Amino acid sequence: MNELTLPHADAATTIFNLHDYRVLGTETLSFGQRRIHIESTVDSGCPSCGVIGTRRHSGRQQRVRDIPVAGPVEVVWAKRRLFCDESSCPRRTFSESTLEIPARSRTTSRLHGALVDAVVSSGRAATETAIAHGVSWWLVQKALTLAATKLPNVDLLRPRMLGIDEHRFRSVRFFKDPETSLWKRIEPWMTTIVDLDTGQILGVVDGRDHTGVGAWLIKRPLEWRLGVQVVAIDPSAAFRKALRMWLPRTAVSVDHFHLIQLANQALTEVRQQLSHQVRGRRGRAVDPAWAHRMLLLRASDTLSDRARAKLETVFATDDPTRKLKAAWDVKEQVRMLLRTGSLEDAELAKEELERLVKESNQPETTRLWRTICRWWKEIEVLIVTGATTGKVEANNTSIKHIKRTGRGFVNSANYTTRIMLRSAARTAVNHP
Ligand SMILES: [Zn+2]
Repeated sequence: MNELTLPHADAATTIFNLHDYRVLGTETLSFGQRRIHIESTVDSGCPSCGVIGTRRHSGRQQRVRDIPVAGPVEVVWAKRRLFCDESSCPRRTFSESTLEIPARSRTTSRLHGALVDAVVSSGRAATETAIAHGVSWWLVQKALTLAATKLPNVDLLRPRMLGIDEHRFRSVRFFKDPETSLWKRIEPWMTTIVDLDTGQILGVVDGRDHTGVGAWLIKRPLEWRLGVQVVAIDPSAAFRKALRMWLPRTAVSVDHFHLIQLANQALTEVRQQLSHQVRGRRGRAVDPAWAHRMLLLRASDTLSDRARAKLETVFATDDPTRKLKAAWDVKEQVRMLLRTGSLEDAELAKEELERLVKESNQPETTRLWRTICRWWKEIEVLIVTGATTGKVEANNTSIKHIKRTGRGFVNSANYTTRIMLRSAARTAVNHP
């Protein structure tokens, strides 16, 4: 609407380019700082009744924080107070407000936008962004919180596959409550809920127990929950039990990475046991099995010829009971099983695994076998759907980046905001 009233904006207004504002004048202060005087060019309505104010009551000079315009600037708004002309309105007067500088705000919307962009897109730390823009950390955080309120509504999305994964976002810390003088333990665990199709983080809840996730899921509309076909989780029996309550119709898939971890753990325990039995001490660098302990854990199909030869040497020279090789075969068979593409192949791989476990005949591998059996239904879901918490893990990697740049968050709400904003921004790029 301003194009008609201001067909030829003056040069300063054009260069300053703040929407709905006109530059009244500029000053150069003694230390080189530039001061810009502005006034609004749009009508303001009364916040109580909405009637446009036309009569000026008073005016004042208000300092406004803004983005740098060819260097830092100090902005002063000649802000008007107007009479409300609606006779039945209880409000007598009101202050002007615009989209760029809403009521009670002392910061332009474009500065808020620049701060959020700097933190979310570049992954810069809030403190770093604050210094670069010459504003307080608190203002950066406020801009982020405000942006978070504009995030897409999770309840309007219809995710098919969810991934739920816990992660620790920093070490445990203790804070003294200033009111009660008691030390309070800050739980650094968080659980993220991710849409496995898009990779977007749908929710972040405090703690690692399943009650937080349950409370989050129960808040979603029934239709939303019924639409979820698969949920991928880490192997936790308590969590699986709880999921049946919140998502009774959803198939549960168990993450293959965590199963491989369990297989590796069994192999490591066997190796340590054998060292005690055979040598009566812990492994040392001179023992081939200890020296190549990481090699033992690697997937055999990723080994180079040289690595394979080393492994053969370990089995030939440092495995008199053949129990290490037997446990290694079990671990490799678990990997093989998880790679199968059909339930028939998985069933065959499971039979072979059972045979190897019996042959190995060690408590560590037997325990692993029992875990595989207890999670067999979920493993079948994994093989059919391919739903793993891998996407969640990828997100957790970017979460770790946020943690690094954030230099440790005390306030988990601030941390959650950052995670959600970054994830939403990434999803918008990848799935426009
Ligand atoms: Zn009014």
